[in-house]
Amino acid sequence: MTQTIAVIRGDGIGPEIMDATLSVLDAMKLGLQYDFVEAGLKAYETQGELLPAATLEAIHKHRVALKSPLTTPVGEGFSSINVELRKRFDLYANVRPAITFPNTKSRYENIDLITVRENTEGAYIGEGQNLTADGETATLVQKITRRGSERIVRYAFDLARRVGRKKVTIVHKANILKSTSGLFLKVARQVAAEYPDIQCNEMIVDNTCMQLVMKPEQFDVIVTTNLFGDIISDLCAGLVGGLGLAPGANIGTEAAIFEAVHGSAPDIAGKGIANPVALLLGAVQMLEHIGKVAEAARLRQAIVDTMAAKDNLTPDLGGTGTTQSFAQAIARRA
Ligand code: NAD
Repeated sequence: MTQTIAVIRGDGIGPEIMDATLSVLDAMKLGLQYDFVEAGLKAYETQGELLPAATLEAIHKHRVALKSPLTTPVGEGFSSINVELRKRFDLYANVRPAITFPNTKSRYENIDLITVRENTEGAYIGEGQNLTADGETATLVQKITRRGSERIVRYAFDLARRVGRKKVTIVHKANILKSTSGLFLKVARQVAAEYPDIQCNEMIVDNTCMQLVMKPEQFDVIVTTNLFGDIISDLCAGLVGGLGLAPGANIGTEAAIFEAVHGSAPDIAGKGIANPVALLLGAVQMLEHIGKVAEAARLRQAIVDTMAAKDNLTPDLGGTGTTQSFAQAIARRA
């Protein structure tokens, strides 16, 4: 069956890594069609808007988008496009896999975990509104709901089932934040009970950070609240060699958007040497999301094998390949 996805080619290195990614997907003959729409600097220059209505409509219509990095112009009045997208499509789950790849700078081997971060509530929601008039005291309101907790934990367990993961670790701080993190943990336990086929354990966030550094291979899927997930997902990216190979998905009730975690890299834009792997891994997540789990595994394995063979790696990985030649090497194995 043909599936259409909204594609945002983006700014800086965005078009280069997107063209490379689509060339790999096309070589795999997955029956995908693309609806190309614009956002970011390019959209601002050509249409006067960072996030044109036609782009929002396309994402709404197709429900799945693959997005290259966008440049948010510097200056007042430009709000973050990612925040706009999150609000518009209620993108409540931020999903970040971290995998150790061959021939990357990392002290670890065998890391293969996914962080599922709640993205719409928690400590980031009322921030900025609670500074006293004299500027001397600031308080933070943290909002945790049964609904928000239930849907993120359910997403994590469903994901584990869909892609064949064995264990979900619920990360919390319920020993101190008894009402907020306590509610999250209570709801998480109730949801976990509905998934007897998936192993479940609980871990306090500070211990989780230590365990991640000491024995990261024990983790499979981690599910947690907004602030903890923000920190843990970057910690995990660091464990596997930084943001250069890190993809991310933003999943909502109305749409899901898949991307690379890195930015538009203006310093190397137009040179044809950007590494396409982070966006390709975003495409792997997208394929899993639309039910093409075997095809996703094939693509991930092709990336691993290409890196193991040091075949046309881009300069950031120590090779002399180009964005296109690296993508072609991956496509040959996919
Ligand atoms: P960046 O991630 O674009 O670049 C940081 C460094 O990493 C640069 O030296 C760059 O050359 C390198 N790099 C990044 N991706 C690479 C790749 N695929 N291959 C090889 N090298 C790569 O971060 P920045 O310079 O802080 O931000 C540049 C722009 O990107 C800013 O306008 C920022 O707002 C935007 N940005 C967008 C997103 C997004 O749309 N999701 C995320 C982060 C930053």
